[in-house]
Amino acid sequence: MIVARDLHKRFGDHEVLRGVSLTVGKGEVVAVIGPSGSGKSTLLRCLNHLETIDRGEVVIEGDTLVATDAAGHCRYVPEAEARRICRRMGMVFQHFNLFPHLTVLQNLIEAPITVKGLARDAIVPVADELLRKVGLFDKRDSYPSRLSGGQKQRVAIARALAMAPDIMLFDEPTSALDPELTGEVLRSMRELAEEHMTMLVVTHEMAFARDVSTRVIFMDGGDIVEAGEPAALFGNPSHPRTRAFLQRLS
Ligand code: ADP
Ligand code: MG
Repeated sequence: MIVARDLHKRFGDHEVLRGVSLTVGKGEVVAVIGPSGSGKSTLLRCLNHLETIDRGEVVIEGDTLVATDAAGHCRYVPEAEARRICRRMGMVFQHFNLFPHLTVLQNLIEAPITVKGLARDAIVPVADELLRKVGLFDKRDSYPSRLSGGQKQRVAIARALAMAPDIMLFDEPTSALDPELTGEVLRSMRELAEEHMTMLVVTHEMAFARDVSTRVIFMDGGDIVEAGEPAALFGNPSHPRTRAFLQRLS
């Protein structure tokens, strides 16, 4: 579903991704962990073209988004094609990013109507079903300002799903929430995983990574230091930097 090869990204003098390669297969739930500033968000943003890479290759479901030739020239496909490719990935951010002037239902149906050109009558039942699924059907006509953080994030998940993505990217979806509100969001994510959604999840929730993911990637300093099955990576990390990171958490 996702193939990334040798991704390089710098901001000025700072090389934030130093040759990151990863693949995510269909139905996999890959957790990305690592210290703050290690490049986790930048990696996600480069995969769905919210940032441009300097070098490397990104292929989504067999379609090349960007590639680098032997001479080192990094080329993206034309913008319309890039948007079409990246639309197959839904993204959920730390800070919800709901449209404040739209109701919950309007938040869900906005992009399917304006970006995909779906008829309102076609998408409203889909949106209602997604709201039931995340337990927020009773909030469909409320504005985001009336919702708790956990409810906002569940709306954000439903909104991303309303675009019928093949892949979901999550960037620390519970980090901005009060601890008592993280459970409801993680529960929605877990249900999505159980339905075999392909997911790439940047998270500090080690219990979620351990219990729900099929593979864990540990990033540090712009590199993938270690990757493996959760039981192996958490139970018996092979790299000293992984061990140090996990020890600091416990
Ligand atoms: P993480 O998500 O792992 O905390 P980020 O990918 O957000 O890490 O950031 C990695 C590094 O890149 C940090 O040092 C951060 O300050 C820097 N960085 C991220 N985005 C930008 C940007 N738009 N401009 C300059 N530096 C950035
Ligand atoms: Mg981040």
